[in-house]
Amino acid sequence: MRKNFVLAILMAMSIDVFAQSQTVESPDNNLKVKFEITDGTPLYSVSYKDKQILEDSKLGLVADIGDYSQRMTLVRSKTDKIHKEYSQDRIKVRNVVYDANTLTVDMRNENKQDITVEFRVSDNAVAFRYKVARAGDTGCLRVMEEKTGFKFPSKTTTFICPQSDAMIGWKRSKPSYEEVYKPDAPMTEKSQYGHGYTFPCLFRIGDDGWALVSETGLDSKYCGCHLSDLNSDGAYQIALAMPEENNGNGTAEPAFALPGYTPWRTIVVGDNLKPIVENTAAWDNVEPLYEPSKNYKFGKSTWSWIVWQDNSMNYNDQSTFIDLAGNLGYNYILIDAGWDTNIGREGMKKLSNYAHSKNVEFFVWYSSSGYWNDIVQTPINIMDNPILRKKEMKWLNEIGAKGIKVDFFGGDKQETIRLYEQILSDANDYGLMVIFHGCTIPRGWERMYPNYVGSEAVLASENLIFSQDFCNNEPFNACLHPFIRNSIGCMEYGGCVLNKRLNKGNDGGTTRVTTDAFELATTILYQNPIQNFAITPNNLDEKPDFVIDFMKNVPTTWEETKFIDGYPGKYVVIARKSNGKWYIAGVTASKKEQTVTLNLPMLGKGKIVTLINDNKDKQPTTSSIKIKNPQKVKVTMQGEGGFVIMQ
Ligand code: CA
Repeated sequence: MRKNFVLAILMAMSIDVFAQSQTVESPDNNLKVKFEITDGTPLYSVSYKDKQILEDSKLGLVADIGDYSQRMTLVRSKTDKIHKEYSQDRIKVRNVVYDANTLTVDMRNENKQDITVEFRVSDNAVAFRYKVARAGDTGCLRVMEEKTGFKFPSKTTTFICPQSDAMIGWKRSKPSYEEVYKPDAPMTEKSQYGHGYTFPCLFRIGDDGWALVSETGLDSKYCGCHLSDLNSDGAYQIALAMPEENNGNGTAEPAFALPGYTPWRTIVVGDNLKPIVENTAAWDNVEPLYEPSKNYKFGKSTWSWIVWQDNSMNYNDQSTFIDLAGNLGYNYILIDAGWDTNIGREGMKKLSNYAHSKNVEFFVWYSSSGYWNDIVQTPINIMDNPILRKKEMKWLNEIGAKGIKVDFFGGDKQETIRLYEQILSDANDYGLMVIFHGCTIPRGWERMYPNYVGSEAVLASENLIFSQDFCNNEPFNACLHPFIRNSIGCMEYGGCVLNKRLNKGNDGGTTRVTTDAFELATTILYQNPIQNFAITPNNLDEKPDFVIDFMKNVPTTWEETKFIDGYPGKYVVIARKSNGKWYIAGVTASKKEQTVTLNLPMLGKGKIVTLINDNKDKQPTTSSIKIKNPQKVKVTMQGEGGFVIMQ
């Protein structure tokens, strides 16, 4: 009797302990997430091939209506599977098959308020989000703090970029995801501004693996988040937008109606860099939010401003760049800031007719502001206002514009994310595509918003003109982006500078350190469905025909992307396929010659392919090469050079 009584207690205890701890594994069983509630605190941990990627890290959030992060109890949990197939026409891959095992955990706080954590674990990615239930009469909440943590083992090193102070930089337009990365830095290092780090954040867990942390599914119902500096638990924590952003206007506390969801937190995991480059975590768990109003067409564009700068904002220079686009067979020209005063609205109609006579379509620049910076580049004060914005978009549609580029946003507050969504939604009504600059990163937006075609959110090509330091670091930066920024979404970089000198005459200003083959390779390494290239009219005469032919023919949309070789900040080789043809592109940050031996099974034994790289004098050269052994293709890159192989 007494023995049975003890046994009954033990059983009750073990059931209780069991009930508070759950695991979910990826379909291939390599990636595991363990969830448990310890002393009322919900925690999760992540392992890959039995190596610890995240140690016990906190979950939960604190809202104005209640604390969903402590004194929690498990109500129930459930596992299931997801299988999903979808197609995208503007990301790194065309057709995606997504298989994941799910774990849904319902928890309750001491005031009997319910919150659910939904985990989805695919072979190389963990995605999770919170769902907060309606709490009786309470139909909405404000999130004061998200406790979600990412506690990496102490051996972890970081490839991360600081969150800037708000209201600093050019015309007080930061933060804008335009800060500098440090490679392989220890976790103990404090962030430059003390505000943590912007997504995506890449971590190397010694020799055990890699993890890329970001978020997706962000729409007008939340703010953009970033990671804090290490907190007192030794974890990076989800940080909400900062109160000083957006000129201090608008709350930093996101709010949503109940029941409601937070965006997905994503952790891409691998024991090598392949899943870091190839993953589709940003799109796997989001859906289109509206139908496209038309069939949006992507392609290449000329852009006078990037090398010829403000002085080129006149009718004649824009006509010259329309001619350039026409000569190259490009679809578009991007007409940048100042068109309203220097060309005028009547002039724009004339320019539109001229462009159409050359079979060239056009994008038009706007500032997003507004009251959140000191921008003087015009037009301003249109895109932030729904009345003026819709009138303007109607006019753009009438003169035949195909898209807008909207610049200088005010940060990541929910109020600003709402503006992004409103601009996208309104633009779709008028058949316009949208590129964002001076902006936040995309978070699943290629799939969510059918007329969205790119974001800057990186220290982009314009900095080559502004600073020699940036020129000197171009090779290093190029070797980071495919692993980090460009891995989670479109990167509108404005690249491929063929001028050696960064001015109109190609005879002054800063000096590019990369080779031409390097620049050509970036057109493939950097992915954005519309590419505004920095090619200028003088390049047509100055560069060999095969370079110009490459610029005419390089695709901007891809069916497949494969990581071939590389290390963040050192060198990178990526293969992308378009229209059934493979393009393999590589660049190196090394100042010395580097030979890589590549496994390129897609090329096929005995096949003849075209190679563009640099000769010993760092001048571009091309040759036909026969692939003797596709598993061991040797290519030499000159210092700060690159190559492209084309089928
Ligand atoms: Ca910028």
